[in-house]
Formats: sequence, C-alpha cells, structure tokens
Amino acid sequence: MTAPSPHAALLLDWYDRHRRRLIWRALPGERADPYRVWLSEIMLQQTTVVTVASYFAEFVARWPSVEDLAAAPLDDVLVAWAGLGYYARARNLHKAAKAVVERFGGVFPSDEETLRSLPGIGVYTAAAIAAIAFDRPAAVMDGNIERVLSRLFRVATPLPQAKPELRVLAAQLTPESRPGDYAQAMMDLGASLCSPRKPACAICPFRAVCAAAKVGDAETYPVKKPKADKPTRRGVAFWVMRGDGSVLLRRRPERGLLGGMVEVPGSVWVEGVLDLAHARAQAPLVAPWRVLDGIVRHTFTHFHLELTVLAATVRLGDAKLGIWTPPDRIGDYALPTLFTKVVRHALTRG
Ligand code: SF4
Repeated sequence: MTAPSPHAALLLDWYDRHRRRLIWRALPGERADPYRVWLSEIMLQQTTVVTVASYFAEFVARWPSVEDLAAAPLDDVLVAWAGLGYYARARNLHKAAKAVVERFGGVFPSDEETLRSLPGIGVYTAAAIAAIAFDRPAAVMDGNIERVLSRLFRVATPLPQAKPELRVLAAQLTPESRPGDYAQAMMDLGASLCSPRKPACAICPFRAVCAAAKVGDAETYPVKKPKADKPTRRGVAFWVMRGDGSVLLRRRPERGLLGGMVEVPGSVWVEGVLDLAHARAQAPLVAPWRVLDGIVRHTFTHFHLELTVLAATVRLGDAKLGIWTPPDRIGDYALPTLFTKVVRHALTRG
C-alpha cells in the first residue's frame, strides 16, 4: 500500500471532523451497505440531497434489501418513486435489483466494469459504488469534483475537453487507503466549501496546496468554453400608414418564432448583408418606400437581429392585408418587444 498523497491526507483529516451526516451513509467505523450506497447514488442522480433523504428512508423501510426490491411489483416501485422524476431511473433501478439477484445471487459486484453492466449505472455511479461500498480506489468524478480538481491544479483546458485530464488527476489523487471516505470527502467539499461562487478557501483543507487559492482566481475554474458568437440576421420591417392615419399590423403564423403574435409586417430574416431590393420585394403592398434612418436591434436566444425599417404612406389599404389600427391603439395588441421597438423607431423617425 502506497502512502496517501498530501491532498488525500489533508482531505481525510478534514472529513473526519466535518463529514456530512447523510441517512444513507455508514457511520465512522461501520461497513457501508452496497444496497444503500447503490440506492442513494441512483436517487441522487439529478436530485438534491434534501429531496432524496425522505425517499431513501421510505424505500429502505419498505424494501430493506435488494432481494425485497427485486421482488416488489414494478408499479409499487414507480409509485414510491413519484416525485423523484425521470421514471426511466426507477425502471432501471428495479431491473438492476432483479439483475443483482438473478446474476449475482443478491450480492452486488464490487468492480466498476461489472457494476456498469447493470441497468442505470454509468461511469460515475459505478466508481462511486466501488469506492464507497467496497473501498476500491476508484476515481470518482462528478461536476462538483471536477470543479475542485480544476481549481486545485488551475486546469486551463475548458470543459468538457478537460474531462480526460481531470480524470487522470482524480486517479492520481485517489488514495489506496480509505478511498471510499476520500470519495465522500471530495463530494462533501465540492458540495460545501468549494462552491461555484465565493469558495471558502480560507477554511478549506486544500488551501495550502490549491493552485487557484494561491493565485486567488478560484472562481475562474473550471474554465468553460466561450459560447459561440451568435449570428446576426438581417431583414426589413414595413411601416405602412394609411390615409385615415391607421397603420398596418398582422398576425404571425402559428408555428415558428413568436408564433401567433402580432407584428409589424416584415421580410424574412437572413444572415449576411441585407439585400434591400430582395427584402423590398416581400413588402405587403406596392408603395413608394423610403428607408428610415437607423437600425432596430434585438437579440433572441440564438441570434441577433437587425431590422431596417421602410416606411410608406398609402391612400387606401386593403383590410385583407392585416390589422389596420390607429398608432395609439397598438398597445391593445401586446406586440413582442422586437415589434414595440420597431413601432417606436417608426414613430420617432417616420
Ligand atoms: S482552496 Fe478554495 S478553490 Fe481550492 S479546493 Fe479549497 S475551496 Fe476550492
């Protein structure tokens, strides 16, 4: 057995004093029950510790062993699971319980590879069960632990590309002595002191060995890939005034962006340079269009939009073209923000 890394020694010392008391956790000196470890890890996938606690208590009271769970009707398990979300997890839980009973005589396998062959157990969960239930030196890595590791070593590679690098670091730090406690300690640290914002470096057991804490830039890690720049689409809005002073609005098609909402008529929006002649050809009617100064800018989730506003006054306007309304009644139509910008632009520059 090799000596634990300084990191592990520091962390385990902290864990012995500050470990979280969780209903599924073995007490100090107790052997962990693989069934409880497995059940809690499956429940904790995408669910908070607080929510899981009551469900876990109910499950183990009702089905104290993997054999009991395997023998339960699936519907009972699904009903008990209600509120934890993602029923596929409950179905897999039940399937895995049956597999443990049928394939392994009710004894959970202890190695990661065999654990991964069970329904609902992926890389992280297999490592967590191997470490916590069987004290195997499995490198456990979830989002919280990724954050801790990337700060400890100021990993410059952005996520998710950094994952293999972080996995190597996780494996290097995992001690052969008490790997189960070490995994739980990393989980506790990631869930408490080494928080995404304002990590509590001053009281962290890693403060003397943490590269980011030394530099003081912990919040920079893990580095995230910068979001791809949003493209810019361009188009034209047609501001039509009729001889009686009303302006033309219309309803957008039900499907698509801002579906069914009222708009100022416009051209399609395309990326690249605006082809004004092409856009003008999409006008709702033939009119002497003039270009208003300035651009209306708006940003949607996936793109920026720049609209040029063309204005025209017509003597008569066909009712079939859309909604003709006095400008001071436009508010009755609850226009999306983009089109309220267009209206404001047209009224001030038209
Ligand atoms: S010293 Fe700070 S940044 Fe480093 S692991 Fe601890 S809390 Fe996280």
